Amino acid sequence: MLAEKERYAVWQTMQELHAQGLIYLKSGNISERTASGHVAIKPSGASYERMEVEDIVIVDLQGQVVDGQLKPSSETPMHTLIYRECPEVNAVVHTHAPHALVLASLGLEIPFFCNENLLVGGPVPVTEYACAGTEAIGQAVLRALFGPPRVKAALIRNHGAISVGATLEEATLAAQAVEVLARAYHAALQIGEPTVLTEAQIEELCAVYS
Ligand SMILES: [Zn+2]
Repeated sequence: MLAEKERYAVWQTMQELHAQGLIYLKSGNISERTASGHVAIKPSGASYERMEVEDIVIVDLQGQVVDGQLKPSSETPMHTLIYRECPEVNAVVHTHAPHALVLASLGLEIPFFCNENLLVGGPVPVTEYACAGTEAIGQAVLRALFGPPRVKAALIRNHGAISVGATLEEATLAAQAVEVLARAYHAALQIGEPTVLTEAQIEELCAVYS
């Protein structure tokens, strides 16, 4: 089987994020750049409970199927655009995680207010609205990720969240951090105005964990 290692990694990460409730129903999609320069990505409309490793589709950077029996995710254009534009990115994790979706629907950026922001590399911006399944949404994501500041994750307006990484583990950690941040920020906003860290406090925190 072509790109067996990456297919397994994508499948396993989806099982993990599904168990954590970050991806559900048929939503969310994960991909990883393969050693051969293709992309291993979730199939379209597949249920997580019944998905097999061989169901993961291999596409080229234009989204054309290279190997696989199923159709690639409807959000493949967003993934392939990111891989074409960012050679340093080797993994993309997209979720409709519940708390991220709340803030994304309000257009609320998550400021730098606690340690988990380190896993994202700063605050979590919100993209402009673009229709799911189009390349326009990939362009909106890239504009948000490039900032400044350049960050590893963004909320997608009225849609969910996305994170990128040099490795699948890095992108997955950023996706998990976004949901932790969104949940905490959302809860804090119910009680009052959350305190945002100052530039000096952020620098001090970064120095400890760099
Ligand atoms: Zn989506």
